[in-house]
Amino acid sequence: MAKKHKIKNLRIPGPTKLFPEARELMGQEAFNHRGPRFEELMRDVTKKLKIIFHTKNDILILTASGTGGLEAAIVNTVSPGDKVLAVSIGSFGDRFAQIAKAHGADLTILRYKSGTAADPKEIEKTLKENPNIKTLLITHNETSTGVKNDLETISKIAKKNKILFIVDAVSSLAAMPLPIDKWGIDIAITGSQKGFGIPPGLTMISMSKKAWDKSKKTKSNKFYFDLNIAKSALNNGQTPFTPATHQIDALNKGLDILFREGLDNMIKRHINAHEKIKKEVKEMGLKLLASDTDSSPVVTAIKTDNAGLIIKQMREKGIELAGGYGDLAGKIFRIGHLGYFDMKEIDEVLKELRKITKSL
Ligand SMILES: *Cc1c(COP(=O)(O)O)cnc(C)c1O
Repeated sequence: MAKKHKIKNLRIPGPTKLFPEARELMGQEAFNHRGPRFEELMRDVTKKLKIIFHTKNDILILTASGTGGLEAAIVNTVSPGDKVLAVSIGSFGDRFAQIAKAHGADLTILRYKSGTAADPKEIEKTLKENPNIKTLLITHNETSTGVKNDLETISKIAKKNKILFIVDAVSSLAAMPLPIDKWGIDIAITGSQKGFGIPPGLTMISMSKKAWDKSKKTKSNKFYFDLNIAKSALNNGQTPFTPATHQIDALNKGLDILFREGLDNMIKRHINAHEKIKKEVKEMGLKLLASDTDSSPVVTAIKTDNAGLIIKQMREKGIELAGGYGDLAGKIFRIGHLGYFDMKEIDEVLKELRKITKSL
């Protein structure tokens, strides 16, 4: 068995460090999900989520991890045989495409090399050449490579082509600018354990009118993830099935704390952490996987032949970093700076990393 180290500084891009209040709320006594307390909680948290999503659209909370939210988006709006464009820049983009494929979509895939962002011009060209494509799937922030897509530009293309625009915002929402209504995003999906500092278990999904209209005509098999059922229940302050009550309570409290910090300050805090890491790792002679323009403000992927060793040695110092997925395994390590963190924790990572790289 691996030697156990006490992790004091969890620097992976999810699950992220919990808000202290969330830790308390997760330990509270059980409560009735059909009683007045839960009803009030659902109304309260839904109102707050609309602020953070910058939307007037409906927001549903499902008990599932982010992938469940991605599947819900697909089964509610994609019928078998529908033409769908999936844009992938890494593992999570691949997963979104796989879900659509599993539900019978007729897929066109634009796959970019890991470490690069999608090319909006190529997306535009693909939509022009394939006018039957009615749905676009894209990842806002590719957590596996530390790359963000230029969603603002892509949103204009989506709008011009009048397609259903579905965004995996699992690791970006609450941490990166993502004005849902302004950018015309029909469905955005996020998860509790990334930008929100809440344990895994919740996925939050916004649905535009266009997405609801489409959902009424979609022929697909679904039950647990039927969003129309979730919406009917929400109208009564309920969920159709037993929800993760404690996570929802913690999310409600966590949103208050985010609002206290201020949405703009929060976004700046993420950018500042990324800028500092970027500058210092370059001074250490390390290279980022992504270019300066594409690199993500919430997770920094660093190229090295010693990824495994660095992760191991950092763990011995109580710092938990993330490795690479798939073809990037052993070739990168990732520093998460997402959700509830402060600069002291980032400074500690950089200090230890400097020592380790010097010794290698
Ligand atoms: C974490 C993540 C997911 C998957 O979420 P799970 O909660 O692990 O199911 C999907 N997309 C992105 C971009 C993510 O970061």
